[in-house]
Amino acid sequence: MKLSLRQEQIIELVKENEPITSEAIAKELGLTRSAIRPDLSILTMTGILQARPKVGYVCVKNSNKGPKNSEIRNIKVKDVMSEPVLVKEDTPVYEAILTLFLNDTGTLFIENEGALLGAVSRKDFIKMAMGTADMHRVPVGIIMTRMPNIVSVSEEDSAFDAAKKIIEHQVDSLPVVRLELLRGKEVPKIVGKISKTTISMVFVKLGENE
Ligand code: ADP
Repeated sequence: MKLSLRQEQIIELVKENEPITSEAIAKELGLTRSAIRPDLSILTMTGILQARPKVGYVCVKNSNKGPKNSEIRNIKVKDVMSEPVLVKEDTPVYEAILTLFLNDTGTLFIENEGALLGAVSRKDFIKMAMGTADMHRVPVGIIMTRMPNIVSVSEEDSAFDAAKKIIEHQVDSLPVVRLELLRGKEVPKIVGKISKTTISMVFVKLGENE
């Protein structure tokens, strides 16, 4: 249902001042009580507002909203992450493109002894293909986006925060990393990935469970 501007204003007033009488609402809007009566009837009939006798109008809290929102925030990265496709820094670009196709993925992560070094995506390969460099010789390490410029998440982060990072940074996929010691040095070990596909799958699952 599309609400009128005045109905929206009434809802805002009630939210800020509840409980509030119809006289007070009318006064705030510079209108008469009878002018806003039809709006108040619509808003109470549709269950948006509740009229409490001798008290005034209050907003009906959307009982669906709380649990569903928290359900989304409770899903952890570790519960939905998938296997990342990994290649070494010295892999020739041509071979990396084959790996991309064979694994039906859009982003490859570059690692050394499990430690994340970078990421390479379709656009990086297209850029490379537009140049004159020999993709059988050039290693993927030359064209990858390198740490520390990689946006990542940890297993304990929420899938919701991962989705926000994907949108904010305009990337298709995030590596899931866990800090581990490698020869006395703390390195980001890659343990999974969260992609736009992962988020779509979570979204569909939530819809099905509704
Ligand atoms: P596509 O190339 O298919 O559009 P992206 O939008 O994910 O894929 O990649 C755009 C650029 O961002 C590429 O240069 C890629 O190397 C880089 N990139 C990919 N994933 C990440 C990430 N998680 N953090 C930082 N940069 C990334």
